[in-house]
Amino acid sequence: MKPYANLPPLPSRISRLGKLAFDLWWSWHEEAREVFRRLDYPLWRLTAHNPVRMLRMVSRERLEQAARDPSFLNVYDAAIKALDRALTAKESWWIRRFPHLPMGPIAYFSAEFALHQSLPIYAGGLGVLAGDHCKEASDLGLPLIGVGFMYPQGYFHQRMSSEGWQEEVYEQLNWDHAPIERAVTKEGKPCIISVPVGNRSVLVSVWCVRLGQVKLYLLDTSMEENAPSDRELSARLYGGDRETRVQQEIILGVGGVLALRALGSNPVVWHLNEGHAAFVVLQRIREALEREESFEEAIEEVRSSTVFTTHTPVPAGHDTFPFHLVEAHLAAYLGSLGQYRDDFLALGHYDNGGGPMFNMTALALRTAGAINGVSQIHERVTREMWAPIWPGLPESERPVKALNNGIHISTWIAPDISRLLEKHLGKEWRDRHEESEFWGEIFKIPDEELWAVRQALRRYLIAFIRERARQRWTQEQVSAARVLTAGTLLDPAALTIGFARRFTGYKRPELIFHDPERLARILNAPRRPVQIVFAGKAHPVDDMGKHHLQSVYKRAIDPTFGGRIAFVDDYDLHVAHFLVQGCDVWLNTPRKPFEASGTSGMKASVNGVLHLSSGDGWWAEGYTGSNGWLIDGGVMTGEPAAVDAADAEALYRLLEEEVVPTFYDRDVDEVPRRWLRMVKEAIRTVTPRFSTRRMVKQYAEWMYASAVNKAVAK
Ligand SMILES: *Cc1c(COP(=O)(O)O)cnc(C)c1O
Repeated sequence: MKPYANLPPLPSRISRLGKLAFDLWWSWHEEAREVFRRLDYPLWRLTAHNPVRMLRMVSRERLEQAARDPSFLNVYDAAIKALDRALTAKESWWIRRFPHLPMGPIAYFSAEFALHQSLPIYAGGLGVLAGDHCKEASDLGLPLIGVGFMYPQGYFHQRMSSEGWQEEVYEQLNWDHAPIERAVTKEGKPCIISVPVGNRSVLVSVWCVRLGQVKLYLLDTSMEENAPSDRELSARLYGGDRETRVQQEIILGVGGVLALRALGSNPVVWHLNEGHAAFVVLQRIREALEREESFEEAIEEVRSSTVFTTHTPVPAGHDTFPFHLVEAHLAAYLGSLGQYRDDFLALGHYDNGGGPMFNMTALALRTAGAINGVSQIHERVTREMWAPIWPGLPESERPVKALNNGIHISTWIAPDISRLLEKHLGKEWRDRHEESEFWGEIFKIPDEELWAVRQALRRYLIAFIRERARQRWTQEQVSAARVLTAGTLLDPAALTIGFARRFTGYKRPELIFHDPERLARILNAPRRPVQIVFAGKAHPVDDMGKHHLQSVYKRAIDPTFGGRIAFVDDYDLHVAHFLVQGCDVWLNTPRKPFEASGTSGMKASVNGVLHLSSGDGWWAEGYTGSNGWLIDGGVMTGEPAAVDAADAEALYRLLEEEVVPTFYDRDVDEVPRRWLRMVKEAIRTVTPRFSTRRMVKQYAEWMYASAVNKAVAK
C-alpha cells in the first residue's frame, strides 16, 4: 500500500512527515502538532490545522530548510518516535486488564464521526462522542474498528444572511486535502463492495482513516459506476428525505458488515452507536441463516454480541420508516429470509401513536444484549419511553444501563492548561487523569499562574473571533451589520459566557432573553461588563431552530446590548475548541429531560470554564455545589411557559448574585481568588469522572468483555 504516493516528494531526512500527517494520532499529541506548527505557521493557520493540505502547499525551500534545522529536527524526531511507540505498543490497558481474552475485533458503527475539522463527516455531539470513543480506544489498546460514512459533501457550512437567516452551503470535499486512504482487502486490492438495495446493487468504495492503533472505515457510494442518484446516497450527512435515509442506513448497516468481511475482519462484538446502523443486525441474521441456524438461534447469536447505545429522549431523534419503504429497499434481503421475513420486520415494529412504523431504535433494543443510555436521567427516561419493547417487565428490570458519556481529554484540553498541569502535577497527570484522588494536587497550582492562563485563553478566543469577522468582511463581503454581530466589539477582559450547540427548541437558546432589560443591565454594568458568544447550526429542515437563531442574531445587532452579544457562524470542532477553552462560563439551558448528556459542558469544565446549566443530562450528576452553578427554577411540571419563566428568573439571580460578583471580586493583585477556587474544583471533579478514559473502560468491562467471552464459549 502506498497511501502517500501522491504527496509531493519530501526531503529524505523528514520523509515520514507524510505518515504523521495521515495518522490523526497527531491531532491529540501536542508534540506532533508542534511539528506542523513549526513547519509553516502561516499555513498551519490558513489550513485550519490541516497537515495533509499543508504538505501539498508548503514550498520546497521551506521543506529543505526544515530538514537542515536542528531545532525542527528535534521536534520531528520526538514526534516520530512517539508515533512509532504508540503503533507498536505491546503493553496496553486492554491487554493488562483482559490478558486471556482473544483479540477479536470490536466493530463500532456510527453514522458520524467527529475526529478533526479536516474530515467534515459529523454534525454534532453524536459524532464527537464517536470520535472521542475511537481515540480513547486507541490510547487504551482496544482492538476496535470504526465503521461509518465518507460524505463527500459532509454536513453543511453555515452562513448568515444580513437578516440573520441561516443559509446552508454544501462544499465538495477536496479528497486530496483529507487524511484518508483507500482501504485494501486481504488480497491487496482496493476494497469495493456491492450492496443490494431494492432490486439493484450499489457499489461502495471503502476508505480508511488511521487513529493510532484504531482504524476507521468509511463507506462511499460516489463511484462512477453507480447511477447518479446512488452516487448521491452518501453525499451528505442527514441531508436527504426518508427514502434517501433508509437507503443510507442499508448501506451503513448491511454494507458495513460486508465491508468488514471483505477486509478479512470478523468482529466478536458489534457496537451500534445510535439506531442508524441497526441494519447490521439484518445482515448478521442472514449470515447465520446461511449457516443453517434457525431464526431463534440467529437472534440469540446476534444478541450475545451486540451492544447498543441510545442517545436521545427526543422522539424525532429516532429514525422511523413506513413499512413499504423498508420492504421496497430491503427486497433482496427480505426475499432471502424466506419464512422469517415477517419475524424480521416485527423486530422493528413500533407504534409511537401515529400508527405502526419500522423503528430503528426498536430494532436495536430488541436485538442487543447490552443497552445503555448516556446518563442516569437518560437511563430512566429510556426505560419509560420504550416500555412497550419489554411487555410485562417492571421498570426496574428493563435492561437499560446508564453509562455516562465522556470526552477525550487530550483532544479537548487547552495546551496552556495541560502545560500548567504538567508543571505542577507532573507529566503523569495524563496517565492518571481518571484517578479522582490524584486531582487533589490541583490546589498546588498558584492562583496567579492559573489566572494568567485563563486570561490568555479568553484572549485567544477573542482574537480568533475578530479574525474570522475580518475574513468574512474582506473575503466574502458580508454586510457591516454582519461584521458587527460577529463579535467585533467584544472586550478581551470582560466576563465571557459561551452558548454553543445545535439550535433547537428544547435547548432554549432564547431563555436568557426572557427579560431583555434585566439582561441588558447585567451586560452593561459599569466596571463589570458581561458578554455572550453564541454559536451553533440549526438542522436544515428545522425552521423553528432557524427562527431561534434569527432572534439571537437580532439581539446581537440591537444597540441595547452594546455589542456584547456575538454570533460566531459555522460552529464546528475548530470553533468548539476555542469556545470551550476561552470562555469563562459555559451556559446550557435545556428543558428537562431532553438533554440526554450534553458533552460540551464537560469540555468546558476540564478547561476551568465554569458550567452554568439546568440539572439535566450529565450535570444532574456532575454538579457538586462548588464546581459551577445549577439553574433550577423549581417548577418541574405544567405549562412550558411557566417553567421557562421560573428558570429564567433563577438564571438571572445566579448571574447577578453569584457569577458576576465572584468573577469581579479581585484582591490587591487583581486576582479573583474565589473564582479560581471554583475553576480548580471544576477541573478536579469533572476531569476524572467525565473522561472517555472512564467511559471506554466501562464499555470494555461492562459490555465488550462479556460479549467476547460468550463468543469464545460457543
Ligand atoms: C461537543 C460538541 C457538540 C456537542 O455538545 P452538546 O453539549 O451536546 O451540545 C456539538 N458540536 C460540536 C462541534 C462539539 O464539539
